[in-house]
Amino acid sequence: MRLSLRFIMSQAVKTYDYLVVGGGSGGLGSARRASSLGAKVAIIEHGRLGGTCVNVGCVPKKVMFNTAVHAEYIHDHADYGFNVTLNNFSWETVKKSRDAYVKRLNGIYENNLKKDHVEYISGHAVFTPEGNVKVGENIYTAKHILIACGGRPLIPNIPGSQYAISSDGFFELEDLPKKVAVVGAGYIAVELAGILNALGSKVSTLIRYDKVLRTFDSILSEGVTDEMIKAGIDLQTGTSTQEITKDDATGLLTLHTLKNNEGKKESVALTGYDCVILAIGRIPNTDLLELDGLGHIKVDEYQNTSRDGVYALGDVCGRALLTPVAIAAGRRLAHRLFDGKTHLKLDYNNIPTVVFSHPPIGTVGLTQEEAEAMHGKDKIKIYQSTFTNMYHAVTTRKTSTKMKLVCLLPDEKVNSK
Ligand SMILES: Cc1cc2nc3c(=O)[nH]c(=O)nc-3n(C[C@H](O)[C@H](O)[C@H](O)COP(=O)(O)OP(=O)(O)OC[C@H]3O[C@@H](n4cnc5c(N)ncnc54)[C@H](O)[C@@H]3O)c2cc1C
Repeated sequence: MRLSLRFIMSQAVKTYDYLVVGGGSGGLGSARRASSLGAKVAIIEHGRLGGTCVNVGCVPKKVMFNTAVHAEYIHDHADYGFNVTLNNFSWETVKKSRDAYVKRLNGIYENNLKKDHVEYISGHAVFTPEGNVKVGENIYTAKHILIACGGRPLIPNIPGSQYAISSDGFFELEDLPKKVAVVGAGYIAVELAGILNALGSKVSTLIRYDKVLRTFDSILSEGVTDEMIKAGIDLQTGTSTQEITKDDATGLLTLHTLKNNEGKKESVALTGYDCVILAIGRIPNTDLLELDGLGHIKVDEYQNTSRDGVYALGDVCGRALLTPVAIAAGRRLAHRLFDGKTHLKLDYNNIPTVVFSHPPIGTVGLTQEEAEAMHGKDKIKIYQSTFTNMYHAVTTRKTSTKMKLVCLLPDEKVNSK
């Protein structure tokens, strides 16, 4: 009886060379590359192909950033001699074309899988105690299994958080909010606040300390903070959100906050918002996989987890949460496993990054603060410049350009990690 049961179970197990959980940036990049190297590959996705970046991240965000840039240019048109009258902005129009573009991309990704002979399994993956992967009633296994299941917005456990939306919800908004509060100081909060402000929402940004983007070099962190204020964003510093309430009659939201006023905490209510966006961080999707415990998956420099033949990469590992990073790690892993390039791995140092703030910023290497802590203040030479970009020579709207080079003495090498 036990023998025949085992026989039935083994019949049900479908075996591959490479099984990838998560059809986002990293999973797709790795699966397609592995298949092109001759491996028999399947990828499991429970949502829309393309993952965070395509559906609720980089791609629709960039469309909205470009929309916001149009709004900024419109302000400058008169200064450049164009007599243009702005009649209307239709959020609905741009949302419709944006959603259609994302849908097209979902299809393109599915076709790419077909073209590259990667089997696409649509469904929710969980690990079985034996280390196989289960989707519905089907069991799959492989010599190599990759966990690339990404992350999702962190919703804080405060009363009334159900009245707020996350960055995912931002992409579902059917109209431009009139008055919006964005809670958070990271790049997603900064980007969404900037887009909404440029498009005409009245925006408050609530941050716990005195600056946004605090992990960036001070020139960027201070520069973006100043530009947000200059652009008309109501920046509420030293503010931690305790509760969100909704007025039943008007539907408007109030944020009940604790504000740090020169060391003294006082309760401040910020009222009249038709939208609150919580952008305070992201958590890994490991709990969805029903692995043991929460938290990011620990991997070594080759993306190996603690279990033989199981790898992880991308946002689920919590390091450099960027699409090109997930893709590059995924492709290198494929070459390592199926192309004999046994020492290939992603170097996580000196990854350049951009924030689509207004104006946008970019950075690579050590911040001044990191370089000084690492080498000592006297070993670091800083070159720095602030000026007004030629574009703004004739505009009434001005933003400043800031540059900084962090160099290591004595040879003034641009400082790297
Ligand atoms: C608002 C926003 C803006 C961003 N902008 C940028 C940007 O401009 N540039 C940039 O480089 N990065 C940006 N990012 C980050 C980027 O989107 C991520 O770093 C990238 O998508 C990570 O790829 P990944 O493969 O690790 O995870 P994901 O792309 O999130 O893919 C994981 C996939 O796994 C699936 N999945 C999870 N659990 C399971 C399961 N149990 N079974 C089956 N499927 C499962 C999910 O549905 C998802 O499709 C942005 C992110 C956000 C939220």
